[in-house]
Amino acid sequence: MLDRAIIEFDKAGDRWRQLYKDAVRQRDNARHIIDRSNRGGVSTEDRINAEASEKEAKRQIDLLIGQSMSNKRRSSEFEFYPYRYFAAEGFLPGFNFPRLPVRAYIPDSNGGEFIARPRVVAIRELAPTNIVYYEGNKFQINKTKIPVSGIDYKRVKIDYKRVKLCANCGYFHEGEDFNRDLCSNCGAKFQSDSYGNLPTLTKVLPMETALTRRRERITSDEEERLKYGYNITTHFRYAEQRQEPAEVISNDGEKLLKLTLGETADIWRINRGLKRGKERGFKLDTATGFWGDSKSDTENLEKLDTEVHLLVTDTCNILVIQPEKDILPQENSEAFLTTLQYALERSIQAYYKLEENELASEKLGEGKYLLFWEAAEGGAGVLSQTIENPKSFQDLAETALDICHFKQPKETCSVACYECLLSYRNQFDHPLLDRHLIQPFLEKLTDSKVVRHSQGKSRDEQYQQLLEKTDPSSEFERIVLKEIYQRGIKLPNDAQVLIPEANCQPDFVYQKEKIAVFCDGSVHDTPEQQEKDRINDENLEFTAGYHVCRLRYDLDLTAQLDELASWV
Ligand SMILES: [Zn+2]
Ligand SMILES: [Zn+2]
Repeated sequence: MLDRAIIEFDKAGDRWRQLYKDAVRQRDNARHIIDRSNRGGVSTEDRINAEASEKEAKRQIDLLIGQSMSNKRRSSEFEFYPYRYFAAEGFLPGFNFPRLPVRAYIPDSNGGEFIARPRVVAIRELAPTNIVYYEGNKFQINKTKIPVSGIDYKRVKIDYKRVKLCANCGYFHEGEDFNRDLCSNCGAKFQSDSYGNLPTLTKVLPMETALTRRRERITSDEEERLKYGYNITTHFRYAEQRQEPAEVISNDGEKLLKLTLGETADIWRINRGLKRGKERGFKLDTATGFWGDSKSDTENLEKLDTEVHLLVTDTCNILVIQPEKDILPQENSEAFLTTLQYALERSIQAYYKLEENELASEKLGEGKYLLFWEAAEGGAGVLSQTIENPKSFQDLAETALDICHFKQPKETCSVACYECLLSYRNQFDHPLLDRHLIQPFLEKLTDSKVVRHSQGKSRDEQYQQLLEKTDPSSEFERIVLKEIYQRGIKLPNDAQVLIPEANCQPDFVYQKEKIAVFCDGSVHDTPEQQEKDRINDENLEFTAGYHVCRLRYDLDLTAQLDELASWV
């Protein structure tokens, strides 16, 4: 535990070290150019740039080591005050998924400041050419730190990511998966989506510290372009072995929703450029880090990369909901899906008593997949409850019917109001929201159940396979399995499988939860067998780290299975 804390503490300092190293390198490179210019051979423009660059680097170094020239604030308010910095970097107990912020440098006559934004906010707010308001002044994002490899300031090679994105479901592919022809999640071919967003991006830059310059006034042209915001797409990927499929089925057998729970999944957001921009992505001057648009008068085409896309990533628990094709209405299916998305978001928040900022949702790809993610640090774990409780969608549907005024009619709400589905956050979707579109579907959900699958197999298939593996001489094993199956309790992953560390073979195992289940018939009543069982239990618990659950033939099975259900 302590060893880990030291490693984590060390890691939390990485970003400070990187910022410091970058600033020192920037200062030294600039100094080198200024010195050379004293001997001639450097253009006036390069010299002016170098002087500005040196000044900026020196200010940043002062901020990083806490030697600010400004005395107007208490030191604890500075971004690099140790406690504040380590809290932001996630080095605090109880933070499972630290949300490392993105920072921006705001220059001023007192030496400047760093401000920090959560990544999901930074992808818009600290994006190229955007305007940041700080203490009554306007600052424009005009530059990015570049992760530099090599010393030569003029010939920077940037490590861009290459990514492939599924237009159908939004799934994210990089590394080896970049060479795939089909989406590894839904099997669709990679192609542009209906908005013309490309599936393959080769110059994707993970967001780095941004730099700003002060602007006295913003032209109406700039204001107009910024008003429509950025084209941002959301993507995700399940963690290895951490995805669990399930289905919501009506009690008369109709398939309603496909669910996939993804624990500690990754979510990416890609900024593809201004919505009202003329080109895809952004232009980046790789030598200086200036965003092309903000210095278009001195563009040096050789150093300019085009179609650069920005990326941020977060880790959290997610639930992906895919409504079955047959339940989608022929017309208005986009409005239906969008209304369903916000009705479910609201009802999950209300039912599990979450704040609006603790659980959010987005449409993925072409909009047929709905992504729900737990935004709270550490995650309250409510999304896993939605698939663990077989009746959860009954409860959520009842809550949604109530929120949408179908329990207590509200005359003044014709299609949607701020009490039911509208919020400031979903304003771009307001024209699509109509509570009446989803009422019949919500009614259906009130009589539904959640059926869990195991590793992609249907529950029935899984049950049959487990049944075949049971010990032929133990009738009690099959009774237990049948009860688990019929009561909708999660099925074990495997049966009669050897656990080598404990050198024993439980009747059933739940791998993820590390639970070993034994079905003890009357043969377990002899003292010899009881001694063997005791040794097995100890080996399982202390050597293999398993939880042992012994179900006895002579005790009430219902009560014993209730306990098992509470563990899985
Ligand atoms: Zn896909
Ligand atoms: Zn309303």
